[in-house]
Amino acid sequence: QQNNFILSITHELKSPLASIKLSMQTLIKRALGREQLERVASLCLDDTERLEGLVENILMASRLESPDHRFHREQVNLSTKTRDLVESVRRKHSEANLIPTIESGLFIHGDAMASASVILNLIENAIKYSPANEEIRVNLYLDAEEVVLEVADCGPGIPEKEKGNVFRRFYRSGNEEIRASKGTGLGLFIVQEIIRAHSGRIELLDNSPTGSIFKEIGRAHV
Ligand code: ADP
Repeated sequence: QQNNFILSITHELKSPLASIKLSMQTLIKRALGREQLERVASLCLDDTERLEGLVENILMASRLESPDHRFHREQVNLSTKTRDLVESVRRKHSEANLIPTIESGLFIHGDAMASASVILNLIENAIKYSPANEEIRVNLYLDAEEVVLEVADCGPGIPEKEKGNVFRRFYRSGNEEIRASKGTGLGLFIVQEIIRAHSGRIELLDNSPTGSIFKEIGRAHV
């Protein structure tokens, strides 16, 4: 798995870098019109954001491993945070059909950055592992005294025998050489560690007729 990680991280770094380099070479070599210029610049921006997300996950995973790492504890408005993140993901992935149903005024007591990382990792996985334009539901609601965040996609789902593995660090299903999707196997590890540290829990269920539902449950802060 360590070797898989190095392979996937190298790939994850190289491909956006190669694409940024190509865009820059195009900018230098050719006198582009305003419209083309904007297109090349926006490709560069996408690649930069991909690198940024990757670096954030690597930093978060290494922070989680450090014995003296402490999470901030503050009041976090999960309703506005989830809404804002859905909007920012929409800007990045125009092909994603995100359907948010978000109850207002739901708070938790925890780390704002870490909460954002959980929400983003779950939504980005749902996009990555399901066909473009398929519905992705993001539900946030109060159940008894708990805040529940559900991210449900209509992709292929996760087989029963894989469900216990997907939260392991560096774990990716399938074989690195033939795998089409991008990733490092850090996302769900980060998600699980953050939720644990906040005394919450995560459930992985099957969506119907296909797909997965990641259900995060934590104590509401009132
Ligand atoms: P990465 O996406 O970088 O591979 P993750 O830790 O986020 O790493 O996910 C681990 C594995 O779990 C993925 O490689 C994929 O096989 C599986 N997985 C995660 N989310 C989904 C999803 N929404 N649908 C299907 N498979 C998923």
